[in-house]
Amino acid sequence: MRRQFIARLVLAALWLVTFGGFVGACVAIGQTADTIVAHGKIYTLNPKQPWAEAVAIADGKIVAVGSDAEIEKLRKPRTKLIDAGGRLVLPGLVDCHIHFMDGSLSLGRVNLEGAKDVADIQRRLREYAAKHPGKDWILGRGWDYAMFGAEALPRKEYLDELFPDRPAYLEGYDGHTYWANSRALTLAGITKATPNPANGIIVRDPKTGDATGALKEAAHGLVGKIVPVPTRAEKLEALRAGMKWANEHGLTRVHSAGGDFEELDLYSELRQEGQQSLRFYIAYFLDPPELSKRDLDAIESAGKKYRDEWIDTDAVKMMVDGVIESHTASMLEPYTDDPSLKGKLFWDPDKYKAAVAELDKRGLQLFTHAIGDNGVRTALDAYANAENVNHTQDRRPRIEHIETIQAVDIPRFGKLGVIASMQPLHSYPNDDTLNVWARNIGPDRAGRAWVWNSIEQDGGHLAFGSDWPVVTLNPWEGVQTAVTRQTTEQKPEGGFVPEQRLSVADAIAGYTLGAAYAGRREKTEGSIEAGKLADLIVVSQNVFEVDPHRIGETKVMTTMVGGQVVYQASEK
Ligand SMILES: [Zn+2]
Repeated sequence: MRRQFIARLVLAALWLVTFGGFVGACVAIGQTADTIVAHGKIYTLNPKQPWAEAVAIADGKIVAVGSDAEIEKLRKPRTKLIDAGGRLVLPGLVDCHIHFMDGSLSLGRVNLEGAKDVADIQRRLREYAAKHPGKDWILGRGWDYAMFGAEALPRKEYLDELFPDRPAYLEGYDGHTYWANSRALTLAGITKATPNPANGIIVRDPKTGDATGALKEAAHGLVGKIVPVPTRAEKLEALRAGMKWANEHGLTRVHSAGGDFEELDLYSELRQEGQQSLRFYIAYFLDPPELSKRDLDAIESAGKKYRDEWIDTDAVKMMVDGVIESHTASMLEPYTDDPSLKGKLFWDPDKYKAAVAELDKRGLQLFTHAIGDNGVRTALDAYANAENVNHTQDRRPRIEHIETIQAVDIPRFGKLGVIASMQPLHSYPNDDTLNVWARNIGPDRAGRAWVWNSIEQDGGHLAFGSDWPVVTLNPWEGVQTAVTRQTTEQKPEGGFVPEQRLSVADAIAGYTLGAAYAGRREKTEGSIEAGKLADLIVVSQNVFEVDPHRIGETKVMTTMVGGQVVYQASEK
């Protein structure tokens, strides 16, 4: 023992002599690297050494970070060298709110994102149908409420014109409202007499009482249950494409907020075949009305099987309300455009509170979807209660979305240690946001739209994501929107609630170190420092220096997960 101690002292002295002159150098003696990333502008997110030039990697982990000259010393003949070419290097990006299977499947379906109006939607559908002839269902997603003008909802007739015999079923961009044609409604058996399901609305023509084709929230199930399910092979193929798509955009981990727990054996199969190039943190989706023994058994058995740095299932997702655009988000006061509506909680507040406390007691992390100010308050109250009754600390429960909030609730994130998991691109100030979203709740509440800066200033932790396929998973568009609060065309002038703008550094933290913290993994991920997993990216432009309205154009050149290059752009 004593001899070892002396040996260590000698090593420490040697370390000082050799490297003591370099500020911030962090190189272990005797260490060699299997891979070195050099000649980079490395933004580490390690406050002790914010910038570096090179990183040494061994066995999937970062072993040293420093100057080119320092790291060069760890190079051996077999060391692989990745030349960053003076480009910006960042920790791998994390998407903290995603529906990965849905998103992956959507890559092969009609994409209506960004369509201008009904005519544009129809043009895209015609094109898709021409490429996919036959009688199969036309499936797709991405329309938004503003595309339908003042009515703000789709109608079956627009689809019937194109597809009188073929069923068509299209998900709204937010996943909260669906659009069916007459054929799909008939196949689902929806008639005038069909009652609204619990937590759902079949939108009806006020004159005739016929279904218009728009189905809100749980009414989706009526058609959703008869849509043909993809085969196992199709799902695996979709997941491979999804991982590739994520890696291309610089993602190295995603936090799944529903729809993936059921597919765990597929993820596990990809992993066993050595095809996993993205890390997954997958929440169990808990439906109301209450937490059951069956839920707990499912959570527990998955927790035993999947709990490492590749697949982890230590979280539970719940939804307390819907969305503002369709008046299903739960508000403390009535909606401005229709004072007969306040939205409604999907959970009985006491049952929700009890479920949260029970899950918290078991050490699980809670993700609660809450969008309206009453939804957000309900979640904060339940989290405060759980901490009290369980005497737990640092559980980091999360609220997902937080689109509007009462001012008094903002400091509660910091005080209670609740993570604000938000999706910057949802605030993109286009017609849907400025006309439909803001109109529905009026200027006072719209003045507290996506208040990430206020939450952070009051001591709260931010975590960013996309909610893909709700919007693109491209994190650079999210960074741009968090920083500018404007469209790419710089609208609206002066910005949408501009006091909520973030610095580029804070926005990047939301996708890296903040994201790691939000997934309870900041000790092993989220920054470029020795001992952490070697997940990092090289990007095409220095986002700290470019015009903020062009951050969205950033391209990823290299994505590395666990020391392996999983995506490499072709140099032009
Ligand atoms: Zn979601």
